[in-house]
Amino acid sequence: MTRKPELLAPAGDLEKLQTAVRFGADAVYVGAGPYSLRTQQTAFDLEALEQGLTFAHQHKVKVYLAMNIFAFDDDLAGMSKYLEQAKKLGIDAVIISDPGLISLVQKERIKIHLSTQANTLNTAAVKFWRERGIERVVLGRELSLSQVKKIKENVPGMEIELFVHGAMCMSYSGRCLLSKHLTGKSANRGECTQPCRWEYRLKEVTRPDEEFLIKEDARGTYVMNSKDLCLIEHIPELIKAGVDSFKIEGRMKSPYYVALVTKIYRQALDSTNYNTDWKKELENVSHRNYTTGFYLGEDDAENAGRGAYVRNYTFVGVIKNYDPKTQELEIKVRNYFAVGDELEIIDPKVEAVRNFKVQNIRQDDNAIISEAHNELQVFVPADFPVSQDSLLRRKV
Ligand code: SF4
Repeated sequence: MTRKPELLAPAGDLEKLQTAVRFGADAVYVGAGPYSLRTQQTAFDLEALEQGLTFAHQHKVKVYLAMNIFAFDDDLAGMSKYLEQAKKLGIDAVIISDPGLISLVQKERIKIHLSTQANTLNTAAVKFWRERGIERVVLGRELSLSQVKKIKENVPGMEIELFVHGAMCMSYSGRCLLSKHLTGKSANRGECTQPCRWEYRLKEVTRPDEEFLIKEDARGTYVMNSKDLCLIEHIPELIKAGVDSFKIEGRMKSPYYVALVTKIYRQALDSTNYNTDWKKELENVSHRNYTTGFYLGEDDAENAGRGAYVRNYTFVGVIKNYDPKTQELEIKVRNYFAVGDELEIIDPKVEAVRNFKVQNIRQDDNAIISEAHNELQVFVPADFPVSQDSLLRRKV
């Protein structure tokens, strides 16, 4: 029987954790308070962590704690305390890269996943970490698929986790000072402001008024901007290479992104044949142009065009309930929609996307409205049942 790897999804908050679980993740990763590399809006305090762990474990889904900042001495006491509590709550593993933190986590006897920030790129490094009790390594995105395969063959006792989808950046395994230098906010402390996506021009000092374009399109020059990774067409090769965990990037992305990307990779891992609709669906989440990065031995990751996202759909709401008696969907609105709009439903329990037209919109107090705005709770007729927490989108 073919070994089935784990599908690991990003959980930037409790809602996204629940979404990832419902849409088919085997495991999720969350940020440990202020100690992960995505601190803005994605930090789990201990209360949220407890709720997330309870929900995930009820559904037999594992939770990994990202604690991969490059720590200073001042961070250590707080990190130790957080770790102690996280262990009591039943965390399944911690994602770290700092050798000092490795010894802290080992004292707590928590499973360690070595973060991609550790730049692990070769057999000797993987053996080194295995001999020091590390059970899983997130390999660098700079490797080709054949190099990944060779490493797994050479060190079969180490679990291999690999990014298969999501944003990449031009720095080496995420080590970068650009953001700190230009804005004072450090990528190595989870605060990256993404200046690599900005537009740059070159000047020669004696000609301050003259700008040289380095590589240009109609809009300008984007020398450091990377495309997004997408390996959906290469799942069988990745499984053959021995990858144990397929990781989706994107803790800062919307619940809609988490739902759709998790759902598509779930289908791909559960299926024996490639379905061309998967790639088409992945085009429907907000993304930059896709690339296979370094994995196929090519390097077409530079996004010569503008750093802007491709957005084909707007996420408009979450279906909280379907009442078979009134034949109404109860919707928590996340973005504007109106009577007459054609919406699409992404249901975690139904493979295909379903379409329906909004006939009317009712509020809790029975007032009939023609437009629904963010944060409203509304009721919309539908003559078919829909699973709880299905998502709604509208074509842009
Ligand atoms: S500035 Fe760009 S290259 Fe540097 S860490 Fe942030 S996203 Fe990566």
